[in-house]
Amino acid sequence: MKLSSPVSELSLVGSYYQKKLSKLGIVTALDLINHIPHRYIDFSQTFFISKVKVGDILTVKGKVKSVKNQYTRTVRKIQVAEIEDSTGSISAVWFNQPYLINTLNKGDTVSLSGKIDWFGRKVAFISPEYEKNVTGKIGLHTGRLVPIYPETSGLSSKWLRGRMKEAIIQTSNEIEEILPNEVLKKYDLVELKDSYYFVHFPENFKQAEDGRKRLAFDELLYLHIASLKRKLAWQKNDSTFDLKIDKKAVHTFIKNLSFKLTNSQEKIVDEIFSDFSKKYPMNRLLEGDVGSGKTVVAAIGAFISFINGYQTVFMAPTQILAQQHYNTLKELFDPYKARISLLTSGQVKKDLGKEDIFVGTHSLINKNALFDKVSLVVIDEQQKFGVNQREKLVKKARNKKISPHVLNLTATPIPRTVALTLYGDLDLSILDELPPKRLPITTWLVPPTKRQGAYKWIQKNIQDNKIQVYIVCPLIEESQKETMQTVKSAKSEFEKLKKVFPNLSLDLMHGKLKSKEKENIIERFKKGKTDILVSTPVVEVGIDVGNATIMVIEAAERFGLSSLHQLRGRVGRGTKKSYCLLFTESKSEKVVTRLSAMQKNLNGFELAELDLKLRGPGEVFGIKQHGFPELKIASWQDIGLIKKTKKVALDVIKSPKKYKELLKEINTRNKFTN
Ligand code: ADP
Ligand code: MG
Repeated sequence: MKLSSPVSELSLVGSYYQKKLSKLGIVTALDLINHIPHRYIDFSQTFFISKVKVGDILTVKGKVKSVKNQYTRTVRKIQVAEIEDSTGSISAVWFNQPYLINTLNKGDTVSLSGKIDWFGRKVAFISPEYEKNVTGKIGLHTGRLVPIYPETSGLSSKWLRGRMKEAIIQTSNEIEEILPNEVLKKYDLVELKDSYYFVHFPENFKQAEDGRKRLAFDELLYLHIASLKRKLAWQKNDSTFDLKIDKKAVHTFIKNLSFKLTNSQEKIVDEIFSDFSKKYPMNRLLEGDVGSGKTVVAAIGAFISFINGYQTVFMAPTQILAQQHYNTLKELFDPYKARISLLTSGQVKKDLGKEDIFVGTHSLINKNALFDKVSLVVIDEQQKFGVNQREKLVKKARNKKISPHVLNLTATPIPRTVALTLYGDLDLSILDELPPKRLPITTWLVPPTKRQGAYKWIQKNIQDNKIQVYIVCPLIEESQKETMQTVKSAKSEFEKLKKVFPNLSLDLMHGKLKSKEKENIIERFKKGKTDILVSTPVVEVGIDVGNATIMVIEAAERFGLSSLHQLRGRVGRGTKKSYCLLFTESKSEKVVTRLSAMQKNLNGFELAELDLKLRGPGEVFGIKQHGFPELKIASWQDIGLIKKTKKVALDVIKSPKKYKELLKEINTRNKFTN
């Protein structure tokens, strides 16, 4: 079996399991063996039956004396087996697994692993793992450290274990070492082939950790190399767009703003200007917390492009946001008679002849717009776009061989480790100062018992203070995109809320609405005609309505802290006091601790770091939404390993000959993923 072979070549993987696996991103044998356990249960202690005690977790080997179904007073069927070894006998009990009667037979040699507990007045194994005829020393499910995989409905760890073993055996001849010996030695790494055995079927915890460390090393190394290669490729671009910085004109543009730039904004404007004067195009990521004023920084860049006679393309992830940027830029550029057009899937404003600025959604990539001299591409909320989409836009904007400058904007707090790895090719600017006079937003956790009270408080606030409210419905599935299920639940929540607030005007917003409808809904909300905007998390990015001062988030525990912070950023934009209510039915201490962090006055960056710290890998669904990809094996917190692998990646670029095997592997992988 090849590493690139589909998992369907394994036994027992038909189309049903193939689908389940692909939901976990597992398509090939390589994907499967890279799906590593998130923990192990230690069944490695094997005891004689006479020695077992209540509370032990252990393994026993013996012969089946009898097996039978028992009927309890409730309808449940239980299965009871009697197992004996040379020292005694013990019962094993399972619940509702009638097929066991046909699998275990009197006289079978079995290995049982699990917990010993009371069963009525007897000491027994409760629902142990079992395995028949384990030859040699160790089994797959018993008598060892047993791997537990991050599961998805319908794929048990037991099932995965079987497939994993087969895949590892079948592909073991295909796995060749890709790192030079000297690197393995220097960083104390086990060989690649061994690492798969070690991580899935370790003899002890040390081995499991050795295996994991090696695979994590490779995972990070691949990411570093990819970003270094992107960087090199980018630096080969020669931009001949000679952007002159007319200081006087810039000064006037800034003076005409309705506010004074913060120091941080000024610093970043300077960074951008200095990029404009380099010999290859800018490729910069501007990171700034929600409301820190990134748009105006990008607009100043667009202004330079404009006065030099070139175009700017400004892409945003949602139509709502594109429309808003269009309005903002129109106002800023009005004194200069710049021609601005808006392109979204729903509409094309203005003719697309000689424009100076194009604002739009990803429609910019496909629509027929006359990009003939684009010197600046701005990608707002860059985390919402795939690498492909961003590259396509830049490619389209490229004039023959001349590449435009690219400015990516994001409010996603990017931990240093992520910036170092994934965005190694981008220069990073951090906008770390909020405009002055922002009132802090008061945040409350609201348990179910206080829900009615909260509704009353909201109603009174709307009536007394004429403010407006967002109510965000929960994420139903773990997905960056909005699913039909999410829309459906938002609709039913909307119906409920109409009954809760019969005298107020409510609107429902979700991503699946027609663009014209979305625009109307936002328009009504902006004009204050709607009191409460019920919405799916589509309102997460961008919307700027100063009179909206209360943000309610349903099932808050399903969101990551960063998403909550983004959502909360929709309020607190005007001069009125703002509130954020996090509804949760969860009583878990972990959840409450995590959500309580929202009540402290932390910025987006601090919240993201805390989020990474508080939740272990493979946490509850829904909260993986931090805007940068999950690692499969390594951890974003492992700064040590991230730094080491970066060193090696730099060496790979410097001395490619030394890393022939690795580079060959990268080429092969690129071939079958492109
Ligand atoms: P974000 O960084 O989240 O994209 P925006 O660019 O939308 O934030 O800015 C948020 C709001 O702050 C806008 O209404 C904008 O006009 C305003 N703003 C931007 N910079 C300043 C500043 N230096 N002083 C006061 N208000 C500002
Ligand atoms: Mg923004």
